[in-house]
Amino acid sequence: MKNTCVECGEEVKGRADKRFCSDQCRSNFHNRQNSDETNFMRNINYILRKNRRILAELNPEGKTKVHRDRLLERGFKFSYFTNEYITRNGGVYRFCYDQGYIALDNNYYALVVRQEYVE
Ligand SMILES: [Zn+2]
Repeated sequence: MKNTCVECGEEVKGRADKRFCSDQCRSNFHNRQNSDETNFMRNINYILRKNRRILAELNPEGKTKVHRDRLLERGFKFSYFTNEYITRNGGVYRFCYDQGYIALDNNYYALVVRQEYVE
């Protein structure tokens, strides 16, 4: 079986475990992979920062109650958060950095700002 370059598909000569036909192909491959990872992380960081900003804007006093729709209409993404804090009673706070929320009844959320005890 012929060994082909992972980057350009050309035949690779030499050892059977060689993955690239040239140094150029090796570095192209790694550069592109790096930038995909960087973009992926950048997108997630952007979403987290946006979530944080939405929570902070809706919660200038440090404690308030908002309906789920108010979060969604600003583009809040519930599946992205930085950490969770579970209370003794089983309540789950989710945080985007220092800004957090916990579900209440009827699609309302209590918004909170990070407390010292929440790690
Ligand atoms: Zn190649």
